[in-house]
Amino acid sequence: MINLILFGPPGSGKGTQAVKLAEKYDLIHISTGDLFRYEMGNDTPLGLKAKEFISKGELVPDSITVGMLSNKLDKHPDSVGFILDGFPRTIAQCEALDEIFSEKEMAISKLIALDVAEDELVKRLVERGKTSGRADDSDSNIIKNRIKVYHAETSPVYNYYDEMKLSHTVDGIGSIEDIFGRLCATIDS
Ligand code: ADP
Repeated sequence: MINLILFGPPGSGKGTQAVKLAEKYDLIHISTGDLFRYEMGNDTPLGLKAKEFISKGELVPDSITVGMLSNKLDKHPDSVGFILDGFPRTIAQCEALDEIFSEKEMAISKLIALDVAEDELVKRLVERGKTSGRADDSDSNIIKNRIKVYHAETSPVYNYYDEMKLSHTVDGIGSIEDIFGRLCATIDS
């Protein structure tokens, strides 16, 4: 089984690369951002709750996010592995994932971080906002808050897995294919 965490700040290209990696390695791609957008699109109670936070560029509370992730894992008991995109995003989520995985006798294989400089991130998110229809990409204050939250709450996740020697960094600048090649080389190494 291969269980990967694709890590990096908003706009670093996790979603794009996760889709390609899932296809190549036959993994189930779980994007917590996509799961929230699906719930918001259907105006479910979970979606309405998530919207309160997402619309401000804040993280959705761990209790909500962890339950949603765990349900999604349960839907694929026969998968050969998962690629987690946008989760875990806090140390509490790392600890929750440890518990869920140990119950299922699963383990994280690697965390791979996409390294992209901040000015490039803002440029990409503003560009994406023109076509994505995502309200959280269409306001520079929300974008800045997401990056701030990333530094404060999410970046420690890298160190959490680094202590277990599981964290790797890949240059996230270049063509989609070049970056994909770097990710595959890291996974295969
Ligand atoms: P991006 O990586 O561009 O910020 P995502 O689609 O991964 O976009 O996430 C969009 C929003 O969904 C986040 O800004 C956050 O509010 C919420 N979200 C996604 N994943 C998590 C998570 N693991 N924990 C808390 N909130 C999350």
